[in-house]
Amino acid sequence: MIQLNDTHPSLAIVEFMRILLDEEQLEWDAAWDLTVRTFAYTNHTVMPEALECWSVPMFEKLLPRHMELIYEVNDRFMKELAVEYPGDMDRLRRMSVIEEGNPKKIRMAHLAVIGSHSVNGVSALHSELIKTQLFKDFYEVFPEKFNNKTNGIAHRRWLIKANRPLAKLITDAIGTGWEKDLGGLEKLIPFRHDKLLKKKWRQVKYDNKKVLAEILYKTQGVMVNPDSMFDVQVKRIHEYKRQTLFILYAISEYLKLRENPDAYMTPRTFIFGGKAAPGYFMAKLIIKFINSVASVVNHDKANKDKLKIVFLENYRVSLAEKVFPASDLSEQISTAGTEASGTGCMKFMMNGALTVGTHDGANIEIADAVGHENIYMFGLRAHEVAEIKSRGYQPGMYLERSARLQEIFHLIRTNFFSPTERGIFDPLVQNLTLSDPYMVCADFESYCAIQNQISENYQDQDGWTEKAILNVARSGHFSSDRTIREYSRDIWKVPVRADADTPNP
Ligand SMILES: *Cc1c(COP(=O)(O)O)cnc(C)c1O
Repeated sequence: MIQLNDTHPSLAIVEFMRILLDEEQLEWDAAWDLTVRTFAYTNHTVMPEALECWSVPMFEKLLPRHMELIYEVNDRFMKELAVEYPGDMDRLRRMSVIEEGNPKKIRMAHLAVIGSHSVNGVSALHSELIKTQLFKDFYEVFPEKFNNKTNGIAHRRWLIKANRPLAKLITDAIGTGWEKDLGGLEKLIPFRHDKLLKKKWRQVKYDNKKVLAEILYKTQGVMVNPDSMFDVQVKRIHEYKRQTLFILYAISEYLKLRENPDAYMTPRTFIFGGKAAPGYFMAKLIIKFINSVASVVNHDKANKDKLKIVFLENYRVSLAEKVFPASDLSEQISTAGTEASGTGCMKFMMNGALTVGTHDGANIEIADAVGHENIYMFGLRAHEVAEIKSRGYQPGMYLERSARLQEIFHLIRTNFFSPTERGIFDPLVQNLTLSDPYMVCADFESYCAIQNQISENYQDQDGWTEKAILNVARSGHFSSDRTIREYSRDIWKVPVRADADTPNP
């Protein structure tokens, strides 16, 4: 069994065919049957730019035999389709492994779907979107291939190793056993009413925040207040993940404070972190923008300790292991229908952060697990995003109705955050106000409304802690042990015993 982790290794399908045909001398049909029974494909994103398409001329030059085999695979597939859908040339063109054009391209995702017996998405919503949108034509032809395997995370890394104090507190309460079977965390549920446990729980979170604060001071020279809410968005920088929505909210809080400096506010530290792909201009501009806003906001004497914005340098796993245990609020705010699963969301949950999130990816399953009173969901649903787009989305309609958004864009345009680099953020403002491909404007008011509710709820530390404990207690479903058991049972047909020892403890 070979599990294709995205389209990147999909060339293995034709390499396997080459070995069976050229070296093992099998007939085509026997070789193809073995190949399809051997391969399974996991799709990890619906972003079109991530679905690899390779140039045919380059391929012909570098791997002529593999190119020949791809043509043969495609020819046979096209002939089968022509029998099933006579005269439907449009369908044949859409489903072909070869995309016409100059140069012609190989659609690796189509090769992966045709050459595999299983095609899975990585969250319930994503696996549905694959069937109804991304691979709709293929789902009609091969419905039996399609299935879901919701992602999970290694709880031994992201809870036991990264947050030893919390792991110890859990074991002190419910005993051992949960480390090998994370479903056992449900024993924590009744403890959410235990006064002493809640007090210790808050102390653990506070200590973890101090550890992160110390690291930030040592590595970046920034001071943060561990008594403030640590509101965190850490993930690769991408427009669909909407770091812009988070920073626009931070600006709106700053404006509130400027209007009314003495008003009580839940103190927040807005923490951003993540890398941009080297050639992704807009992602780099977003990083620049966050840092520029931070330098204005953090230097404004008026805001005292109520508001701070930090951009983490060099966000990576070793830093992430310090960030999740120190977080109060997890920002999972992608445009509905764009985040295949997300795994950061699970790391936060397992470390007792509450989630503010859209109805996207694994957020939906986290909400199902904890109940809607223990998570902050907001914004358009995936089907609403699709409907609005099909009618022709115009951000101006939402801008008109939001005085706050208008004010913010005016400030950016008039270089309030870039006094020495005039116009530098024009491409960002133009993108958000003219096309807004990820509907930041459409979700802004609903996001601010839920954030206000979060500020209020955070004042009730006891209630907040109860929700945090419940989130951890229900996080067992998001262990990769569960994910791997499902792959083993459903795709690889090598089920593992539920009580199997974990290797390399
Ligand atoms: C978990 C993790 C990610 C993925 O985060 P998402 O929020 O799911 O996009 C990215 N980078 C690092 C370092 C991580 O640990």
